[in-house]
Amino acid sequence: MHKITLIPGDGIGPEITDAVKSIIAASGVDVLWDVQEVGQKALQIYGNPLPDVAIESIKANKIALKGPVTTQIGKGFKSINVTLRQTFDLYANIRPVKSLPGVKTPFSDVDMVIFRENTEDLYAGIENVINEDRVEAIKVITRKASRRIAEKAFEYARQNNRKKVTAVHKANIMKKSDGLFLEETRRTADKYSDIAYDELIVDNTCMKLVQQPEKFDVIVTENLYGDIISDLCAGLVGGLGVVPGMNVGEDYMIFEAVHGSAPDIAGKNIANPLALLMSSVEMLKVIGETRAANSIQTAIYKLLEDGKHLTPDLGGSATTSEMTQELCRLVAN
Ligand code: NAD
Repeated sequence: MHKITLIPGDGIGPEITDAVKSIIAASGVDVLWDVQEVGQKALQIYGNPLPDVAIESIKANKIALKGPVTTQIGKGFKSINVTLRQTFDLYANIRPVKSLPGVKTPFSDVDMVIFRENTEDLYAGIENVINEDRVEAIKVITRKASRRIAEKAFEYARQNNRKKVTAVHKANIMKKSDGLFLEETRRTADKYSDIAYDELIVDNTCMKLVQQPEKFDVIVTENLYGDIISDLCAGLVGGLGVVPGMNVGEDYMIFEAVHGSAPDIAGKNIANPLALLMSSVEMLKVIGETRAANSIQTAIYKLLEDGKHLTPDLGGSATTSEMTQELCRLVAN
């Protein structure tokens, strides 16, 4: 029996986490879900969108599956996602991006993994109001954070038989900060002589990604560039509804859907649960449930190839419940 913190989250979060729970149950894996409210519901219950009880649960279980939570823009509490990443020092945001059968896009052989540094850069949250007409945000890049994300990316490349790591930067303009990041990616590359290494400026990277995405293998980059590139790459294979995401540190891991809480479709039973399900596949691999992970992965491929039980965002007309039922049937067979 695995004990895992489950955060349903906001908007479509409860619908897609319910779907994932049913599909994991159908795979035969025994999970005790420690359900914790984070987000708008927690704000109502506890007066705090990220209550201590949820933090303690993740501390105890070390692993969490998380639905999306709504972040208020320009006001209110600090982003819950950023706080979670900082609290648990989840320094690596890892996003595998792979072309899927049955999902039509202009590209067919995309297969890359993006490693985004998750704790600093402009996301350090240091914003100073100088006067009412001027605000300054500070970009923080440290040697330690640059080194550990680089090591994570290279180690992953080695363990997963990947051939090349590309460091994405803007050191031509931010010579000192991005320069420091590159110093560490280069130093790490020297230790992994079996893995090819190259560097690409972020704007050029964006152009190349939409021209020849199949040329990329593993990307390692800072927080802001990684945030933008990760979503661009999701778009290459069918969008945010079909890519997994995980936030990983030394001691804790949070697996989550990379899309948001989709308030426009919440409660309509049309949310696509595949992104969270794919993240849960990565989670099952990490906890040693490889057989179940493979069987859910195969079920996802069959569902997409067959194309008959897809939600509207994937061009179908199925409800979340119908898609979930079909996935449960495929997993159980
Ligand atoms: P969003 O991802 O919620 O929605 C963008 C579009 O994609 C919407 O049209 C939505 O309906 C659609 N969509 C997203 N997920 C879908 C799914 N699973 N199935 C079908 N359609 C889906 O992005 P947004 O509107 O910019 O953000 C909404 C809220 O979510 C904001 O408060 C934002 O801060 C938050 N957010 C949270 C996370 C997270 O918790 N990890 C990530 C991104 C955004």
